[in-house]
Formats: sequence, structure tokens, C-alpha cells
Amino acid sequence: MDEFTVRLCTDLPPLARILSLETQQLEPVGFKGFEIRHSEQDGSPSALILPDIAICSDCRRELFDPIDRRYLYPFINCTNCGPRYSIILRLPYDRQNTTMNRFRMCSECQNEYDNPTSRRFHAQPNACPVCGPTVELWDASGNSLALSSEAIMAGVDLLKKGFIVAVKGLGGFHLMVDALNDVAVKRLRQQKRREAKPLAVMFPNLMMLKDNCEVELLEERLLTSPESPIVLVQRKANCNVAESIAPGNPYIGALLPYTPLHLILMHFLGSPVVATSGNLTDEPICIDEYEALKRLGGIADYFLVHNRPIARYVDDSIARVILGREQILRRARGYAPLPLRSCKNLPTILALGGHLKNTVALSIGKEIFISHHIGDLENSEATEAFEKVVKDFSELWDADIKEVACDLHPDYFSTRYAEHFDKPIIKVQHHLAHSLACLLENEIEPPVLAVSWDGTGYGLDGAIWGGEFLKIDEKDFERFAFLKPFTLPGGDQAVREPCRSALGILYALYGDMAFSRMDLPTLKAFDRDKLKIVAQLLKKQVNSPLTTSAGRLFDAVASLIDIRQHSRFEGEAAMALEFAAHNFKSDKENLKYGNFSYDFKLVEVDKLIPLKSKYPAFLVDWSPVIVQIIDDIKRGINISQIAYLFHLGLAEIIVKVAEQCGLERVLLTGGCFQNRMLTELGVEGLRKAGFKPYWHQRVPPGDGGIALGQIKFAELYNEVLKNR
Ligand code: ZN
Ligand code: ZN
Ligand code: FE
Repeated sequence: MDEFTVRLCTDLPPLARILSLETQQLEPVGFKGFEIRHSEQDGSPSALILPDIAICSDCRRELFDPIDRRYLYPFINCTNCGPRYSIILRLPYDRQNTTMNRFRMCSECQNEYDNPTSRRFHAQPNACPVCGPTVELWDASGNSLALSSEAIMAGVDLLKKGFIVAVKGLGGFHLMVDALNDVAVKRLRQQKRREAKPLAVMFPNLMMLKDNCEVELLEERLLTSPESPIVLVQRKANCNVAESIAPGNPYIGALLPYTPLHLILMHFLGSPVVATSGNLTDEPICIDEYEALKRLGGIADYFLVHNRPIARYVDDSIARVILGREQILRRARGYAPLPLRSCKNLPTILALGGHLKNTVALSIGKEIFISHHIGDLENSEATEAFEKVVKDFSELWDADIKEVACDLHPDYFSTRYAEHFDKPIIKVQHHLAHSLACLLENEIEPPVLAVSWDGTGYGLDGAIWGGEFLKIDEKDFERFAFLKPFTLPGGDQAVREPCRSALGILYALYGDMAFSRMDLPTLKAFDRDKLKIVAQLLKKQVNSPLTTSAGRLFDAVASLIDIRQHSRFEGEAAMALEFAAHNFKSDKENLKYGNFSYDFKLVEVDKLIPLKSKYPAFLVDWSPVIVQIIDDIKRGINISQIAYLFHLGLAEIIVKVAEQCGLERVLLTGGCFQNRMLTELGVEGLRKAGFKPYWHQRVPPGDGGIALGQIKFAELYNEVLKNR
């Protein structure tokens, strides 16, 4: 029995995972052998649903073996690989409960399925060219042009010619186009209405990827792992992928073929393609070929489809390596819906997440299931997808939901949706949710200081928060410090127009004088009429909410140094600022300048106003930094240097606040910590000063982690809140 316990861990098949192991002595019940039994239909569903898994090396070998009966068969799979989550209709995970139920196995497949020594023993999606799904090539009107291998080869040909091909894959459609063809890529951008946001690139193999990008060891592991996410890797100088893939971006979101279909396609194509999710910008990806014809008809020229239905859309995940560890930026295929574990038993809570990059989460016992990335809940397609996932989640696990958690923002779709359940609602402040997600995934307990920085979150005082330092203990949390507030003329419009954030900051510094600073690029970004209108908004404080957002501070600096006056996608200005800083830092000559940086001022709040309860103790004043930046622009200092010193200054103020707070553990969380440089400088600074920094690894630092944090809130504070 002891040996069994030991070998259960050491001799695991490649994909088996042990989430928890407890031993217990039981009376013998008289079993004579080892067998795998049919699942009982009436039992409560077993909780673990596996994610979709990239093709394994055995299947890969068979796929390209001319004498194998599955030679070039695009749906080859085995118990170690293939679709799972994207084909499950209900639990238990048996073939009749998956979208494979429409395919009857041929006798050869059935024999493998029934044979305990076969690699395909109980492989639910088991299939072959005789009995399984097939591919088909359609034109944009849905006319069939070719079948099976011919369809794939024709698809290869069309891609080579620069056409846009919508390819039905594992969890949805990809839009593919030759990544070396700048004209074709630009056409895809135009059709998809995606101006500048980076596009993912699928390379035929690791070798070709390495020719174009720097790939470090951990990055290689990620790229070739069963999860096979998109990995952010650094572009090489001689990289021949079109610049329009990710304009001005030193990184490429690269991935390798992870299904047999992609593998065959890429093998015969022999060069990289754009593999972006098959949707219009901001809509969820398509899963059904007939729906795809309608929704993608205006984008794709051809459709490579198949007849294995997709039960739910699952996007490609995005990951990167930072500070020597892997970090997930978008959690979907390969990861969802594997649970995270809590140390305590949890009530069954459904958490509805935030508004952007939404995910939902469900706690059952000690397990917290986080959904795949759903997206921004900005349009009816996205909100329908959200409702479907919520329903799906409750049904798959047959959950008896006791409470519903959501964001504090009254206008979020997800917040309003909480009313549907007729259950007690727990509203969780956005930046606290970020912090608690980080706490939970790092398996630490309070007290901690959380640096929670992002673009937007509804504050306890109704203002737009986003530059928060939260002190969290077992019983309560307090806003220990915050970024000095400034006004955002036009509110939400400032997200797309960094020059508005900059003007808000200039107005805070110089009052009406700000509007005559025509020497500054920010002012030049407005035409005369618009400047008048925006000035009025600020002067009269109309539609000009107060914000403490670090994301908007990044925007303001990007505008002041004229890197970006308008953002074409969320976070573009902040990314441009990071890349500018990156250029400065990667030139080693520059670092000889020494240690000077921009000094944010830490102000004790009770010296300004009488200390009210629940008011932060410290305020981080950006005024001296902005004044210095304006001065440096005039002196002709290189903008890369300004961008770098701004990052360094932020990292230093994090350390200063941590010193005031005095807690050893410091969490770095929120969308701003997608910024590699900020995270690296922050961690480095904190460590040097003797603190223990924590950041995100398994769930994204951005709003994809909100749902998880909402559940942790319920675990930590529910009892405390009830007793109040
Ligand atoms: Zn396999
Ligand atoms: Zn078969
Ligand atoms: Fe956020």
C-alpha cells in the first residue's frame, strides 16, 4: 500500500495531475483485480474537467507516418492529448456526453477504445478517417470546394496567395493570413477593424520560431507544453514577420501548432501565419461554421471547417516568462477550467468578475474553478457568451449556489446580472479583488500590503480608483496610500485619448494657465475648438470625474512626451511608454548615468486635512515628477530616458510606501503589472529593501483575476461582515 502511494505520484501518466492526496485506512472490501468501471449516471458529477490538450508526441509521430491508418488525419488524438473542455456537453466525461456522440466508432477504433493496453483506451474523442470528423473547404458563401486532405492542401495554397482563411480549430475559429505578407496582414486588420492591437503568429515549428525570435528555455517549455499557449517572445533584429503584426512592439505573441489540423496545415505551408481569434474586434470568437459564415463573411475569403461541434468557445491562452517564472496573461485553452485550491472549505459561491477581460469563478469545497477568458462585456455577443458560461458552469458542476459575488461598480453588466439569482449578493471593491486574487494564488494569508494599480475600478467613495496601496489583514482592509487624484475631462473618453489625462494633470498643476501651454505636445494634440470644450469641462468640473488611476498617469506621461496622444486599443499608450523605456534600458551605455530617477513625493494625509477614518494615511504626489518631465522635454532629453526614469520612479515609490507600511509581504497586482519593466523594477527594489514581493503567475494580473479575488473576499470577510 505504501508503494502504491509513492508510485501513484512518481509513475503518473504525462497528463495526470494530483491536486491533493490524503490517505485513510479502510476495511478490505474484497476486490480481486484492477478495473476501470463505467461512470454511474446518477452520481453527483466528479468535479475535475480537463482542459483541451495539445497533440502529444506519439500522435504526432503517427500523424506523419505514411503507413499509419491515421496518416495526415486531422483529428488524431489519444488519452494523452486532444480536445476535452471544448467538446464536453455534460458530466460525467463519457463519449455520449461530448460533441463526439454523433460519430459512431468503427470496429478498429472501438477495439482501441476497449483495450486497456491501447493508448486510446477510453479516449472519448477517439476517431479515424473511416469513422470520425472530416474537414471541408468553403468559399465565403458556404459552397463546398474540397474535402479532407484536398481541403487542407487547398487552404495552404490560398494562404500562400495572401487570402484570409477562417480556420475552425479546437475552441473556435482563427483568422489566418500569411504573416510575411504585409499587405495581406494590413487587409486583415482593416476587415477585422483591428487597427493596431498585436496579432498572434503561429510558426510551423520551433526551429523557425527560433530563427525569428529569442526563445529562452522556459519560453520553449511553455510553447511546447500540453497547454501550448501564445507566448510573448522577443523579436530578433532579422525577424522577417511583417512589422504590421505588432507595430512598434519588441515582442511577438508566438504559438506553435497544437492540433493535428494546425500541424498538417503548417507543415505544408512551411511559413508563419497570423492566427488571430475569429471575431470582429471586441466580440467573442465564433464556434459554429454557419454562424462563422455570417459573422466572418465580411472578413475571411475562405473557410476551412470541420463537422466536430465545439461545445464552448475557448480562446488561445497568452503567457510569458517574467522574473524567471511563467505568467499567464490570458487564461483559456489548456488551463481552463482547472481549479485553484483554497486551504479552507468554501461555501458554494458564484463570482461574476469585472467588466473587461471578464472571467467567472465558482467555488465548490476547496476548489475554485475559473472560467476561460470571456472578454469585454461591451456588446450583446459578449454578454450572451457571459450568460452562457455562467449557466454552463452552474450546470456542469451541478452547483447549489449559496451566494453571488460581483464588482462594486453599479453599472457593470456583471454586477447587474447578480440580481438574477435571488441569492445574497456580495459586492467586492475592484482593487481589493485584484489583491485577494494575488494573495490566493500565491497561497499566502494576510497581513500584506497590496499595490493594486490598473486603469479603472469603482472606488468605495464612488471615484475612479486605480493607484491603490491596500493594507490587508484577517479582519479588515484599509486604503493605506493612493495616487494623488486628478480630474479626467470627459470621463471614459480619456481611456482612448491620453491627451485628456495629461490635460487633467496639467490643470491640477497650473490651473487655467495649463490651457496656454502651447509649447507642450499635449496641447497641440487638441484642435482649437476641442481644447475649448475640454477646458470648459475642467473649469466647470462637468463630466470630469476624479481619478487616482495609475493607468491614466501612464497615459498622461505618454502624451506629455508625445509618444501617444490617442490609444487605438486599451493600454496602447502605456505599452508604448514601456517599450520606450525598454529601448533605453537595453542600451547598456545608458545605465552608467547612475541612480538618479524621478522622485514622487510621499505626503502624510493628516498633514493636509484632518484625518478622517477610512481615509488613506499617505498620498503619492506625482507633481514633482510631472514638473521634472516637462523640464526634461524642454532640455531635449531623450524620451526613452524619460520613460525609463518614470518607471524607476514608480518602483521607488512602491518601496517607500512599503517602508511606511512595514509589512514584509508586498503584492503587485492589477493591469499595470502586465508592464514587464514596472514589475521587474518593483520586485527588484522591494527585494533590495528586504521585502518579500509576490506577483501573478497562474491567473492574470489584469481583470481576468477579479472573479477569483471576489471568491477569496467571501472566504476572508464573510463572517466578519455578518458579525458587524
Ligand atoms: Zn496523443
Ligand atoms: Zn475509426
Ligand atoms: Fe482592474
